[in-house]
Amino acid sequence: MADGDCLFCRIAAGEIPANVVYSDDEVMAFRDIAPRAPIHVLVIPRRHFVSLMDLGDEDTPLLGRMFAVIREVARRDGIAESGFRVVSNAGRDGGQTVDHLHFHVFGRRFMTWPPG
Ligand code: 5GP
Ligand code: ZN
Repeated sequence: MADGDCLFCRIAAGEIPANVVYSDDEVMAFRDIAPRAPIHVLVIPRRHFVSLMDLGDEDTPLLGRMFAVIREVARRDGIAESGFRVVSNAGRDGGQTVDHLHFHVFGRRFMTWPPG
């Protein structure tokens, strides 16, 4: 998919507004438009990957940076101590609806297990 057709590429480019909570040259984090928890942040790479399956071994440093941003988001939103859940839906059975790699960060309520 070309960048111009991808919702999260367009958010990363600033073409579609989002409530951005973190941004650097490689990674962005913004609030989900339809939050499923009091804290619901999406962490994305600026570069387009469809899902985790699109990453190669050379992208491991990027993945590390994304998890560093998840920790930073958790600290900034005050859920580092109370806890949170990180989810990346991949493909049809994973329930992925936006085909640009993202991690959901859910917090400030107890998350049930197993997920639906
Ligand atoms: P998925 O279902 O692919 O795991 O997650 C996609 C997420 O993107 C959903 O939680 C959905 O609410 C969110 N989302 C869809 N469109 C937009 C949008 O335009 N802006 C924001 N901030 N989130 C969106
Ligand atoms: Zn994209």
